[in-house]
Amino acid sequence: MNKPKIVVLGAGYGGLMTVTRLQKALGQDEANIVLVNRHDYHYETTWLHEASAGTLHHDRVRYDVDSVINRSKVEFVRAEVEDIKPAEKKVVLSTGEVEYDYLVIALGGESETFGIPGLKEHAFTISNVNAARQIREHIDYQFATYATETEKDENRLRIVVGGAGFTGIEFLGELVNRVPILCREYDIDYSKVRIYCVEAAPTVLPGFDPELVQYAVAQLEKKGVEFKIGTPIKEATTEGIKVDKGDGELEEIKAGTVIWAAGVRGSSLIEKSGIENMRARVKVDADLRAPGHDNVFVIGDCSLVINEEINRPYPPTAQISMQQGEVCARNIVKLIRGDQGTLETFKPDIKGTVCSLGDNDAIGVVYGKKLTGTKASFMKKMIDNRALLMIGGPGLVLKKGKFNFI
Ligand code: NAD
Repeated sequence: MNKPKIVVLGAGYGGLMTVTRLQKALGQDEANIVLVNRHDYHYETTWLHEASAGTLHHDRVRYDVDSVINRSKVEFVRAEVEDIKPAEKKVVLSTGEVEYDYLVIALGGESETFGIPGLKEHAFTISNVNAARQIREHIDYQFATYATETEKDENRLRIVVGGAGFTGIEFLGELVNRVPILCREYDIDYSKVRIYCVEAAPTVLPGFDPELVQYAVAQLEKKGVEFKIGTPIKEATTEGIKVDKGDGELEEIKAGTVIWAAGVRGSSLIEKSGIENMRARVKVDADLRAPGHDNVFVIGDCSLVINEEINRPYPPTAQISMQQGEVCARNIVKLIRGDQGTLETFKPDIKGTVCSLGDNDAIGVVYGKKLTGTKASFMKKMIDNRALLMIGGPGLVLKKGKFNFI
């Protein structure tokens, strides 16, 4: 009898969780497991803001896919996914076509620019390892150039962060620790540096606990961040950004570096696939399958799961992706073993949310308890280490974990 073929697209949190659980649960004679990813490494998306600011080396935020998969059970294909064809049960890769019996789409998210002109051309996004390296090097270059040029261009020392969501705030937390080091390195007066956080909503971290938000804003302001709240970015240019002043008039904020951290969407491959979606995210059935596609699971940032209590989608987080990966793997095992009737319903178990503010400060709500400062920062590192533990075991935690708890 032919073994069923499970193809998992993406080696992010969701994809790797699925594969590591499948390789444990299934015998070699039960299924062929294929994992496809564009790089031969996984990166911790939730640590990219550190690599972008230059407070953590980019190699610390990634590890080889090979170090967590069992090659005797999993075939790894390093390739770009170009097309998903559910009607033909196949996926087109840059290296050729792959057919599947079960497909797991775990391709992660993409930056959402809402059609704002100039952003794609003139702003950076904290989206992958190389983009993070580019941001770090760009800021470094701006400071180095300012230090050596005779006619000083102060815009080189101006950094705009667009969006005060978790990504924007976590990046700012790292940036305010990194910039004083850069200033010392390049003999630049820190008072000449301007760091703006521009947010469209009337508050920083919209929807988060107001007391914790106030703490975060105060900590970042103390270190030099200037918040421009209720100020939507309308355009990005070679000179900086243009914002809506509130009266419909545009105001220019000049900056040599613009980081766009104002939203994510699912993968554009979802939109091309013909699977029903909303902004490239699939509102999955309770068992994580795409509606109308019995053999296609969608997890992570490409999926949409509604929190019935507030009738809004759960946020696309690593925590949820990993939990989905576990349920998805168990459901595929059931399908393969002919247990169709008892597929598990996915229900997120939100243990908490922590937003870092640099290496030794953070805010968070964990098991319903509010935390700030080093306690919150400790929790954040434990969360980071837990993700490594869940996917790669204690060995990976020892290799890549965060242990600087002071
Ligand atoms: P987000 O959508 O959560 O935040 C984007 C922010 O940008 C919002 O506050 C929005 O009002 C603002 N914005 C949108 N358009 C704008 C404009 N034109 N001008 C200025 N501001 C604008 O995006 P994110 O921060 O990248 O987070 C994405 C998801 O990942 C979220 O669900 C978040 O909860 C999650 N996340 C979690 C953590 C964590 O738990 N520590 C860290 C990072 C991201």
